[in-house]
Amino acid sequence: MMNPQDNKICAYFRDCVLPNNPALEAEILHKDTQKKVCVICDGEFVPVNNRQVYCSPECERKGNRIKSRARMEKKRGLNVTI
Ligand SMILES: [Zn+2]
Repeated sequence: MMNPQDNKICAYFRDCVLPNNPALEAEILHKDTQKKVCVICDGEFVPVNNRQVYCSPECERKGNRIKSRARMEKKRGLNVTI
C-alpha cells in the first residue's frame, strides 16, 4: 500500500494507459471515488446518491429500525425522569 513504486505504476497507468481506454478509465475512477461501506453489514457498495449509507433496502430497513428504537428509548427515558 505504501510502496512508492506502486504509486509510480499507478500514475503511469492512470496518465498513459487510461486516456486510451475511456470506458476503463470511467469504470476505475468511478468505482474508486464512489465505493462505500454499508453501516449495517459492512459490505461494499456503490451508492446511487451521496447520502446513501446502506447497501440495500433490507439494510436500510434494519438501520431505520435501530434508529427509531433508539429514539423511542430516549423518549421513554425522559418520561421516567419527569
Ligand atoms: Zn448492508
